[in-house]
Amino acid sequence: MSVEDESTTEPREGTKFESEEAAKMFYDDYSRSLGFVMRVMSCRRSERDGRILARRFGCNKEGHCVTVRGKSGSVRKPRPSTREGCKAMIHVKYDRSGKWVVTKFAKEHNHPLVVEPRQARQSLDEKDKRIRELTIELRNKKRLCAAYKEQLDAFAKIVEEHSDRMSKKVESVVENLKEFEHIQLEFIA
Ligand SMILES: [Zn+2]
Repeated sequence: MSVEDESTTEPREGTKFESEEAAKMFYDDYSRSLGFVMRVMSCRRSERDGRILARRFGCNKEGHCVTVRGKSGSVRKPRPSTREGCKAMIHVKYDRSGKWVVTKFAKEHNHPLVVEPRQARQSLDEKDKRIRELTIELRNKKRLCAAYKEQLDAFAKIVEEHSDRMSKKVESVVENLKEFEHIQLEFIA
């Protein structure tokens, strides 16, 4: 199987594996691609030689947090647990053919699945990209602001110069008027 196949292939009842380990690796890949953590669960062993005959692989949110009575009858304190009683699992059984066969597949999880690390990395890259874009935008805005400020400063300077010139003109007009008055007075006199 190629890498792509492994990450997208869903378990199916009847699928055969060369070994228990291969079945485990398959379900592990499947769990990663889907976004849950695989848990190796119970197995059934041969009474004769102790060989494993069947195995269950499940979700780590399988099972409820229950109090378990020990041999002495004492009640074990429930451990803090993230388990939510998820029923998702596959059951593989050693087949007469010498292969391991999926005999049961429970697909549904009763909890949200977490994003794959690959996807998380992608979204992080997207965030980085967005930050870069915003930084560039901000830099452009700053540049624009600086340009506006420059224009305003230049405009203020023009206004100042203009009013300077105006006041000088007014001064000269007043000066001329005074002179005119003087001349007028001279005439009258
Ligand atoms: Zn689950």
